[in-house]
Amino acid sequence: MADRFYTPQPLALGDVTLDGPEAHHLATVRRFEPGDAVTLFNGDGREYAAEVVAVDRKRATLHVTAALDLSRESAVRVTVASALPKGDRADYLVEKLTEVGVTHFVPLMTVRSVVVPKLTTVEKLARVVIEASKQCGRNRLMTVGPPTTWRDFLARRDGVQLVLHTSNGEPTPVQSFADGVTLAVGPEGGFTPVEIAAAIEAGRAVLSLGPRVLRVETAAVVGAAWAAQLG
Ligand code: SAH
Repeated sequence: MADRFYTPQPLALGDVTLDGPEAHHLATVRRFEPGDAVTLFNGDGREYAAEVVAVDRKRATLHVTAALDLSRESAVRVTVASALPKGDRADYLVEKLTEVGVTHFVPLMTVRSVVVPKLTTVEKLARVVIEASKQCGRNRLMTVGPPTTWRDFLARRDGVQLVLHTSNGEPTPVQSFADGVTLAVGPEGGFTPVEIAAAIEAGRAVLSLGPRVLRVETAAVVGAAWAAQLG
């Protein structure tokens, strides 16, 4: 795979100009030159073979020579709704969920959440998704939804719905995840008994990942990797 660069623009055969952070990365950080081969993607599910035509410090002109339908998505549509851990660990969480192939991420607001996700956080996380997709080869971006309260989250339905919780997880019958699966992950303080009761009331199944208490980001990544394998 040639080095991958992202653009939000529609792509087609012919010339395209990159600017912003991607042009900076291509020209200044990686020092690509006219004639070099790169791969472009914009999240439409394809990747585009391109050749560098011209570079300056702010812009790069590329010539797209081929469009390839290359899916690196997992067979199961996985949504993860999770409380955000602090600082860099939120970036780690989103990076790993992108690598594992999660389709959609929802920053959750729960009673014990310490991080209140702001819109700027969401924008920053969207950038993490792009960087991770450049690295792992995904041609579709994991979408990042707006911060959502537990109550609003429980009002929705999207495939099989599981709540990861440390205690008394009934062994969850492994069901078909053909319609997708949604996993909810709590904050470091865990979900409150009231939140768990509300989830059960809303028809959610509680799932334990074993007797050890995992960090938020570990639980999210392990849960997503497990779910992505079940067709
Ligand atoms: N003291 C809290 C720990 C929370 S860990 C408690 O006992 O609930 C943060 C989140 O990660 C949890 O809310 C849960 O969603 C998930 N998690 C951590 N360890 C888990 C495990 N062993 N099984 C299932 N979910 C787990």
